[in-house]
Amino acid sequence: MNPLSLQHNHLHIESADLVAIADTYATPCYVYSHTALTQAFQAFDQALHGRNHLICYAMKANSNLAILRLFASLGAGFDIVSGGELQRVLAAGGDPGKVVFSGVGKTTAEMRLALDCGILCFNVESEAELHRLNETAGQMGKIAPVSLRVNPDVDANTHPYISTGLKGSKFGVAHEDALRLYRLAASLPHLKIEGIDCHIGSQLTETRPFADALDRVLTLVDALEAEGIVLHHLDLGGGLGIRYQDETPPPVAEYISALLVKLQGRAHTILLEPGRALVGNGGLLLTRVEYIKRGTEKNFAIVDAAMNDLMRPALYDAHHDIVPVVPRAGNGEVYEIVGPVCESGDFLGHERRLDLRQGDLLAILSAGAYGMSMSSNYNTRARAAEVMVRGQDSFLIREREPIEHLFALEHTLPRL
Ligand SMILES: *Cc1c(COP(=O)(O)O)cnc(C)c1O
Repeated sequence: MNPLSLQHNHLHIESADLVAIADTYATPCYVYSHTALTQAFQAFDQALHGRNHLICYAMKANSNLAILRLFASLGAGFDIVSGGELQRVLAAGGDPGKVVFSGVGKTTAEMRLALDCGILCFNVESEAELHRLNETAGQMGKIAPVSLRVNPDVDANTHPYISTGLKGSKFGVAHEDALRLYRLAASLPHLKIEGIDCHIGSQLTETRPFADALDRVLTLVDALEAEGIVLHHLDLGGGLGIRYQDETPPPVAEYISALLVKLQGRAHTILLEPGRALVGNGGLLLTRVEYIKRGTEKNFAIVDAAMNDLMRPALYDAHHDIVPVVPRAGNGEVYEIVGPVCESGDFLGHERRLDLRQGDLLAILSAGAYGMSMSSNYNTRARAAEVMVRGQDSFLIREREPIEHLFALEHTLPRL
């Protein structure tokens, strides 16, 4: 569902006018559509209907409490990658019993927190982590539920920074090591094997790599079951891409049915860990043009959002469509859309044809995933406000950060 429409020449998200949103909450400001997020979740849920399943939202994509609470209310679990994310789940009223914990560097303190809360499963990524988790659980008198994250060595055909399932990646354990490590896990007294996990990368736009990875995982499942190591769930990770520009990712139902055909006759509960596909297209970054600057070679539109607010263009050279909130009829000119941060890499869009004036509002689209959650305070810039729209109503779900908060934890040295 696309929550955007032009009404009376003003861009609306659901039934809320983005001009009014900017007036009320100021810019830069992230704006999310409650309906778009809900429908994105339901597409996954419905595609898995009739199968025991749990959709664990990969919350690093966007961890605002209002978004976590929304997904929790729809039945979601969560894929976390830190103890901090677990604390967010608890703060949002999510069920720790539906949490899977991924990541290559879990600390002992994070393991303890997760064991205390009773999470669903640890997705273990190395032999050393198996030993650490076994010891930690033993000290606490608990049994840790585990899956091994297996690296299926398939090429996700995506940006190298977000490809995680190839040999040579820091993630997961090698396919050829998996059997040995499962036998080890089965022998450790404070671990209980629950499942198997894989996650091959992000922003995948084809079904094929997912299907190939599943084939590789199922080979292991069969080998394990032949040895009497029975798995309760299969966690197939996240990674389904979205349309930013001209990508054509498979619809959710098509992607899931390609997996389900391979799972016929197997009773395992299916876990998925979608992040971007649940929130990416449901949010935008609203920004205002501060200055128009005509250069000798390029024209610049300098806006009040920057790479610290939305890092994807600077980090991955990612494309986000940028559209005027109040379009003009003119043909416009070609602009570099840049922020105020003192880095040449601080751009939000290259070579965009727009009819612009100082003070205009722009919407940077498909910014719901890895936008706010990757933002920083670089240049001592306060992080943007976040607003959720439902119908014609809007709700402030994160206040613009007060500047004093940025240095509240800092101390100057005492005088000598
Ligand atoms: C980031 C991540 C995801 C989600 O990836 P998306 O591309 O946002 O769907 C899922 N699982 C793990 C382990 C991850 O690290």
